[in-house]
Amino acid sequence: MSMHKATVRDRDISGKTALVRVDFNVPLKDGRIEDDTRIVASLPTIEYLLEHGCKVILCAHLGRPDGEIAPGLSLELCADRLRELLSEALGRPAQVEFVDDCIGEKVAEKAAQMQAGDVLLLENTRFYCAETSKNEGEMLEFAEKLAAPAELYINDAFGAGHRNHASTYGVTKYLSPCVAGLLVEKEIEQLSRILTAPQEGLVVVLGGAKVEDKIGVIKALLPKCEKMLIGGAMSWAFFKAKGMEVGLSLCEPESVESAEDVLASMGDDLQKLMLPVDVYMQNVAGDHQIRYAAADAIEPGWDALDIGDETRKTYADIILKAANVFWNGPMGKFERKPFDEGTFAVARAMGDCPGFNVVGGGDSVAAVTQMGVADAIDHISTGGGASLEFLEDGVLSAIEALDDK
Ligand code: ADP
Ligand code: MG
Repeated sequence: MSMHKATVRDRDISGKTALVRVDFNVPLKDGRIEDDTRIVASLPTIEYLLEHGCKVILCAHLGRPDGEIAPGLSLELCADRLRELLSEALGRPAQVEFVDDCIGEKVAEKAAQMQAGDVLLLENTRFYCAETSKNEGEMLEFAEKLAAPAELYINDAFGAGHRNHASTYGVTKYLSPCVAGLLVEKEIEQLSRILTAPQEGLVVVLGGAKVEDKIGVIKALLPKCEKMLIGGAMSWAFFKAKGMEVGLSLCEPESVESAEDVLASMGDDLQKLMLPVDVYMQNVAGDHQIRYAAADAIEPGWDALDIGDETRKTYADIILKAANVFWNGPMGKFERKPFDEGTFAVARAMGDCPGFNVVGGGDSVAAVTQMGVADAIDHISTGGGASLEFLEDGVLSAIEALDDK
């Protein structure tokens, strides 16, 4: 399936001033960028625009400042990193400027000074509450100001594609053409391969903490896949819904309700849903010893923190034989040793699987990177929530707002 939306390649953009929505929502640690994957992923579109003599105005959000100016969430760090990465890619010093606002006079002045081949990154759009406002009038008024310095709009923020915000959606009312960037095009093409894969050989692996975040994708993909492998704390919600003991394991009431919903509504497809048969659990109410147990032998006072060896082996074997695999969410509390083993077993199997494989979700991508198997994965999505929503609905609302091909 190829994109039904126009991309930068489908329109004459030469020499124009482009407003480009990018996804620079990078993880920060101690005031530094911990992982610049999303900035790297924005380079192909930016390079394409520079090759075509555009003036490139980038906008993005970072974190959740909730309409306040939060200096710790300034995009200036991203401008510095982009300048380094772009200079490296171009083989010459790149002109990347930063302006500490995203609308108004300061931006207009900077934009007026731009030459073809210049890049200007605007400050965090979420420093204005209108960016995410549910009041459409307020949101659109802000979008119009954001659009003011540009002649056309390019959305390359796949990770924000499921959000109808001013910078992802509102601006499409004020600029024309509105097209997708090369990252959005690649993400949609790769994820579409999972959506259109034959049922036989399609394996979906879901983990992480909350069933309610993933219930949509469970219901959408269970009928379409051959097997769905469940791991992580999500599993305990299914256990509890089946009346099994989960002790002090992470298991929120909303997750149990969602698991009950899946069990009650999916009929024969439930035969494809696999749950862990064994676990590693810790005696958190007592001496903190760690013990291996069968899934139906979790005891009160114990916290199940990882899938067990039998489950790891079964899941790995299924993944290795899959023609197409999608994985989202760790198999256990992988930030804490030794509870990273289940997640790493799945990451290793993903790396060794000769089929077409896709990983999405911040924590699962981190696991794949830590295992050193990232290069063996066909597609690593830059969007966690967006990739799940695309697999659930087959569309993303902000991408739908772009021009048709
Ligand atoms: P992703 O970011 O890949 O989409 P989630 O955000 O849904 O994944 O879930 C990741 C979190 O779930 C991690 O912080 C991990 O520690 C936690 N988790 C997974 N399994 C367990 C478990 N058995 N007990 C406690 N926490 C768990
Ligand atoms: Mg997460």
